[in-house]
Amino acid sequence: MAKALFFDRDGTLIVDKHYLSDPAGVELLPGVVDGLIRARDLGYRLFLFSNQSGVGRGYYSLDDALRVNARMEELIGLPAPLFDGVCMATETPDQPAVYRKPSPRFIQEMIARHSLNPRECIMVGDRETDVEAGLAAGIGVAAIANGKLDRAAWGRFAFPGLAIYDDFASFAATLT
Ligand SMILES: [Mg+2]
Repeated sequence: MAKALFFDRDGTLIVDKHYLSDPAGVELLPGVVDGLIRARDLGYRLFLFSNQSGVGRGYYSLDDALRVNARMEELIGLPAPLFDGVCMATETPDQPAVYRKPSPRFIQEMIARHSLNPRECIMVGDRETDVEAGLAAGIGVAAIANGKLDRAAWGRFAFPGLAIYDDFASFAATLT
């Protein structure tokens, strides 16, 4: 069975610019490229799992969101395809959530489709809904505390088994 990492996008891999729809605005966060190289070399499958309610709200199109992804992958510079699966959850918070985090559905589908071992999968994100989705799917969870939530804020959630890291590089350094 394979092992895998599920990444939130905004605030985890790239700077969270709040409804980013312009590829020119994509900025990688520090340590992301080296961390992804390390993860790939260790045999992790990589998945991208992003809530994009800006699409559901009509602020920008799914194509815009995908162009942002493409720019991010261009800046990362690793051979394509970087991700074995991508989920852009376009629902707004007041619509029934199918894929929108904290729904674990995308993770569950990828576990089944790619024969992933849930005990060797981690959801990595910068918001509580990322962690909730990972926990609901029964996989490991890691928080990057460099954005909306600092270490103290993460600690107050008391999520079981949550590992908190100051930045992406610190997270990637713990992978085995
Ligand atoms: Mg985020």
